[in-house]
Amino acid sequence: MSDNSIALVPEDPRFVPDAAKQRQARDRFAEIAPEAVEIEGKFSESVVFFDCGGNFERICCPSCGAEIPVEWWQNRMDEDHNDGFKLAAYAAPCCGKKSTLNELVYEWPQGFGRFALVAINPNIGELDDRYKLELEEILGTKLRVIYQHM
Ligand SMILES: [Zn+2]
Repeated sequence: MSDNSIALVPEDPRFVPDAAKQRQARDRFAEIAPEAVEIEGKFSESVVFFDCGGNFERICCPSCGAEIPVEWWQNRMDEDHNDGFKLAAYAAPCCGKKSTLNELVYEWPQGFGRFALVAINPNIGELDDRYKLELEEILGTKLRVIYQHM
């Protein structure tokens, strides 16, 4: 059996909600996805990468929409990572416009952060928009929804 999880990551990669809000959001997520094997808040001192696993299809430039070669992206990932990701701005190989690794358009979505709320095998399909809004309200931040397929 393969595993799926839903990771909710703040759009601001350095944002960490306070502990009470983390608990409140965790409890609410558990009500939304009662069949989830586990729901956990993940916290790290530095910015880490949350990938979508087997759901990965491609990466596009947020400025011109061109597809970005995975090899270029992998090199920027290596360059950017030093005790966590710095998320510096890099000139895209297509149009030269600068963006951070977090601003690139990932299909499916991927993201960076110091905090994530993760539901393992939630068995709810896609997270309904109204639940996303509700969890954003609780955590006090816009969230990026990352569907991870292991
Ligand atoms: Zn471009």
